Amino acid sequence: MIHKLNPVLLPITPQNDPWDPIRSLQKHGKHLLTSVELTVTNLCNMRCEHCAVGETLTMTEGPRIPVDTILRKLDEVEHLETISITGGEPSYHEATVRDYIVPILKYARARGVRSQINSNLTLDLARYELLAPFLDVMHISFNYVQPEDFHEVGFARAGRSVKHETAAKLYERMIENTIELSRGGMFVSAESMINYRTHEKLTDIHRLIVKMGCKRHEVHPMYPSSFASNLPVLSLDQFRASIHKLLDERDRELWMLFGTLPYYACSPHEEDRRMIRRLREEPNVTVRNDPDGRNRLNVNLFTGDVYVTDFSDVPALGNIHSDTLEEVFSRWGEHPLNASVNCYCPAANCCGPNLLVADTYYKEVDFTTRKAVV
Ligand code: SF4
Repeated sequence: MIHKLNPVLLPITPQNDPWDPIRSLQKHGKHLLTSVELTVTNLCNMRCEHCAVGETLTMTEGPRIPVDTILRKLDEVEHLETISITGGEPSYHEATVRDYIVPILKYARARGVRSQINSNLTLDLARYELLAPFLDVMHISFNYVQPEDFHEVGFARAGRSVKHETAAKLYERMIENTIELSRGGMFVSAESMINYRTHEKLTDIHRLIVKMGCKRHEVHPMYPSSFASNLPVLSLDQFRASIHKLLDERDRELWMLFGTLPYYACSPHEEDRRMIRRLREEPNVTVRNDPDGRNRLNVNLFTGDVYVTDFSDVPALGNIHSDTLEEVFSRWGEHPLNASVNCYCPAANCCGPNLLVADTYYKEVDFTTRKAVV
């Protein structure tokens, strides 16, 4: 397939979020595969208590599928708009950065596809600087106001005790790296979860994110998946209260992106609809529809297995050794689980709930029979 090289790309702004699945739905009238996430490693130097892929982390790993094969597979995706690189910590080994990540990012740049890496930014700055010329979004998790928080959260599942000084050193390095990379022009997007630890101190976390020079603050409620399965779950009222407080106290200059929210414009509850209205009207605030199960597939670079989501328990729907990514995506289109959340209300810019959210809070609700009230 021949793709136009170096097309002009619009900047990533609140008006232009290439990861939102509603864009391709609006353009083509149906969900298309526009986003591919690549799991390039299962190694990580941390073991966060909320890790969404915690159960898959390992201490060693075998060889990856050759990068040329991966690029060929990406080339078959006609409407590809975004690539996300994830792990573990994708930069855990410098060789992975050099031999896999940089070639994939160069491919994305040449094709006019936007790219993101999910990293903890705790390793040597030099390895992140290798990525800087080709990367669009450096995505980090930031849920802390002091090194003690980082120590408690970041090594909760380490299975051994990690000294406070060791954790504090990594915390300082993460902050210094974020400041340095932001100063150099990198788009660092810091994500905070709303959970039992953070929900009352999100404003303080937000202030630190502003101070580090990040270009965006992403906020997502935490749901019970993988390592987070046994953590306390907040009620919908607690999530709502902490979002309102954050909106009251935030820095209005910084773009805030909310995602995987458990509130919908079709809700019978006035306070949910009020929340949605407020988020729509606040300047510099956006709500992203969830790409999981809509426009994205995840590919494991070791096994070749392809998943519709890295976030719920749907098993692999195919493998790149035997299927094209488009074939796997069509398979998902016919899956009964997809049908259960595949709704669309253009008036509310909403294309339905995340599977895990629907399962956690709305087991009894049939979203396909609801309509937005706007
Ligand atoms: S698209 Fe679905 S979840 Fe969103 S408002 Fe409409 S019915 Fe509700």
